[in-house]
Amino acid sequence: MRVFCVAGGLISTLLLVEPLQGQESKPESFRSRDVGLDLSVDFAEERLSGSMTLEIENWTKEPASRVSFLLNRLMEASAVRDGAGTPLNFTQDVVRFLDTPMRQVTQVLVDLGKPVPPGGHTVVRLDYAGNLVGYTEVGWLYVKDRIDTAFTIIREDALAFPRIDGVVDASNRRVPTVPFTYRASVRVPSKYVVAAGGKPSRVINADGTTTWKYVSGVPSPFINIAIAPFDTLSQGGVRLFFFRGDSIGARRLMSGAQAALILLTAWFGPLHSPLNLTITEIPDGWGSQASLVGGIIQTAAAFRDSTHMGELYHELSHLWNAPDLENPSPRWNEGYAMFMQDLLHERIDAWPKRRESEIEDIATVKKMIAADSSMRRVPMIDYGTANKTGRSYRVGALMFATLFDLVGQQEFNKIVGGYYQQFGPGGTTRDFINFAKRTSSRDLTGFFDDWLLSTRWVDVLANSTSISDLVAHYRRGAATRERLPMFPTI
Ligand SMILES: [Zn+2]
Repeated sequence: MRVFCVAGGLISTLLLVEPLQGQESKPESFRSRDVGLDLSVDFAEERLSGSMTLEIENWTKEPASRVSFLLNRLMEASAVRDGAGTPLNFTQDVVRFLDTPMRQVTQVLVDLGKPVPPGGHTVVRLDYAGNLVGYTEVGWLYVKDRIDTAFTIIREDALAFPRIDGVVDASNRRVPTVPFTYRASVRVPSKYVVAAGGKPSRVINADGTTTWKYVSGVPSPFINIAIAPFDTLSQGGVRLFFFRGDSIGARRLMSGAQAALILLTAWFGPLHSPLNLTITEIPDGWGSQASLVGGIIQTAAAFRDSTHMGELYHELSHLWNAPDLENPSPRWNEGYAMFMQDLLHERIDAWPKRRESEIEDIATVKKMIAADSSMRRVPMIDYGTANKTGRSYRVGALMFATLFDLVGQQEFNKIVGGYYQQFGPGGTTRDFINFAKRTSSRDLTGFFDDWLLSTRWVDVLANSTSISDLVAHYRRGAATRERLPMFPTI
């Protein structure tokens, strides 16, 4: 079983409810670009309190002067200020989501005083406090969040800190989200350890508490802060936080990470910046999530079960992706990471099922094609604009598996690693295609025309049941291929 990493977070995948007629409203005009979180946790009262300072951006084409923040239903804002510390007018109330009435939140409506122009930024600081409760009643069974000495998680899913959103899911999903930078500071009694993604530091206070700080440095899709009496392991830029009793699993995970990093470096060359990755164990049933910056949270079962190693390899493989300059991105690098997770699993853990898994993937993609005619219309390069990046995982994995066998590992490494090394600031799909074509001793024009620029791969796949069938097609086609017209893109 392989798990897909979701840049937008768990919630976005779980909210695929159809909007109720007539309940769509204008989406929020602002989104966060940088946040500073400063919290204290009171375990006796099961409360947290503090502030969040957000640099927000008006992403729309019209000026805007009002922001809606959502907080956990048992939390309350006590003050709202601008970047200069001047109080801003606000109202707050506990309200229901219009299209998910079971979901109750504290909505804080803030008047910014003056309109922010399109593309403009402003700073808002909210002081807030309250009890943290989960959202299992909405059907999010993994959101069991509460302040607990055994394990506490502070995350957006339970609105443990303010999030810009309205109370209509259908409208919220229309806001183009972007990752954001963060600084998180959390004060806890000194016997607890605070785990989060980013560069860590801590200050021991005179009152028996410790303030832990994590700085993301570069943008992250989320903040997850876990608090528990964790044990820790650290090696080569990888920090592991784990529950006492799971040290065997933690050591296995660490040695797998180190083995993967050694192989990836040998194949694709050195990383542009030092690795700084946090992996945190959370209890079973609390959801898993992964980002290189925001860190990986992984349930205890994954720590104890070696079949989950692929998820870790997937995330580590992403380290060798040049930033994708297309907006929205078609995210074929997810296909690359899906392929790499199986390859690394095979090479490091002697996993015997890579070929079996490829055959299953081919069958699954054939079913996707049969079920959805747009698979034949939208080429992979347009998955971003067509909002179909969920397909990039499996279709992209087939493309990279075919490329790997077609050109061989040595040339594959030169293509993938060379592109990463040469396109440090970033590149586009066409940059990648051109680089691969220049690098390979084989003519890859038809291959990329089929897989990235058109949907001709669908017909090639129809006659294939394995990656070797796909490779045989491109070996045969090399001598006789003629350029066919592109399928129309949408
Ligand atoms: Zn991924």
